[in-house]
Amino acid sequence: MKATVLDTKTCLTWPIMDVPAASWHNGNYSCDCNRGREGEPPDFAECCGNERYLVIRAEYEEMDGEYRYAIRELNEDYPPALLNAFTGLA
Ligand SMILES: [Zn+2]
Repeated sequence: MKATVLDTKTCLTWPIMDVPAASWHNGNYSCDCNRGREGEPPDFAECCGNERYLVIRAEYEEMDGEYRYAIRELNEDYPPALLNAFTGLA
């Protein structure tokens, strides 16, 4: 899956390629630690939490046959108010 990540502090966006959709949903990319890697470097000593980086777009390759998560599901651990403010989803 190709994800477009939004930094809700700077409003910068960037793509992250070739991370499985399930990892965004509930794996290594489900929190700010890895999502922020191309923004500000995270402190890997402890989890950065779910406060800053949202997936705002998900593009799937037909051939990958991945389950297509909704944007809401890809940000499941983030505050609904944050998601709502930046995507209109709640
Ligand atoms: Zn984390």
